[in-house]
Amino acid sequence: MSELDNTAASLFVVATPIGNLGDMTARAIEVLRTVDLIAAEDTRHSARLMQHFAITTRMTSYHDFSDDARVDSLLANLQAGQSIALISDAGTPLISDPGYRLVQRAREAGLKVVPIPGVCALTAALSAAGVPSDRFIFEGFPAAKRSGRQKHFAALVEETRTIIFYESPHRILESLADMREVFGAQRQAVICRELTKTFETIHLDTLEALEVWIREDANRQRGEFVVLLKGAPPSEGEAIDAETLRLLEILLETMSVKQAAALAARISGVKKNLLYERALQLSSPKE
Ligand code: SAM
Repeated sequence: MSELDNTAASLFVVATPIGNLGDMTARAIEVLRTVDLIAAEDTRHSARLMQHFAITTRMTSYHDFSDDARVDSLLANLQAGQSIALISDAGTPLISDPGYRLVQRAREAGLKVVPIPGVCALTAALSAAGVPSDRFIFEGFPAAKRSGRQKHFAALVEETRTIIFYESPHRILESLADMREVFGAQRQAVICRELTKTFETIHLDTLEALEVWIREDANRQRGEFVVLLKGAPPSEGEAIDAETLRLLEILLETMSVKQAAALAARISGVKKNLLYERALQLSSPKE
């Protein structure tokens, strides 16, 4: 990796609100006001934000499918000492939004890339959904076609971490139906809709009930969605808690595998065959 070029200016990656303009950070406003150029996903869309915060900095458009010449020209600006702020239509750039190619090329060129953090729909959803948040995975948008979507979901069936998807209003119903089919009707999920906006809704239920809930009111199908799916229960091998395991070990000191498993099952409520398997492992002679 090359050394940072100190004569060059920084590329600031700036998060913007996903609905409520009150979520714009003071630092984002300051950076957008003071940089030489703003590279925006859609300059017309972002013009409203600029107007609201009296930001008059020149804007240019940038997409990940912009040609190499466009990226080269932005890098040349940076190398010439001009600072650039990258923004997307809403939320954090690079999170299901353009920016990756520019950031990657800037870093490869040894230029300084500075995050200006703020709103992101996935973290906003996770912070209020009430599903396990210690470990989670973000899967972006499910495929648009049914076969691709079901394949995507099928690969995640045994995932134990919370799984987060983005979804559009056009596909939320189909996506939920496919989730129910692949993950099972009783798997729980949370629909976070229109976060930070007037009709913000956060609703937890089984996939089966969520599908009914969203079907019965057309308004619930409108807007922008984050779907958080609870992970699969841990595999059976992991389902013996530490206390039960300790109990099993103590019982094994004076009992046969069969007796220890049966008694531990009666005391703890953990499945007997599961405890029997573990007891067998514990009592097998060590190498
Ligand atoms: N970069 C953005 C971010 O930081 O979250 C995401 C951009 S992605 C193109 C747009 C998707 O994000 C929407 O289709 C929806 O799934 C989710 N999203 C954006 N704003 C949202 C909101 N206010 N409420 C719920 N989901 C939202």
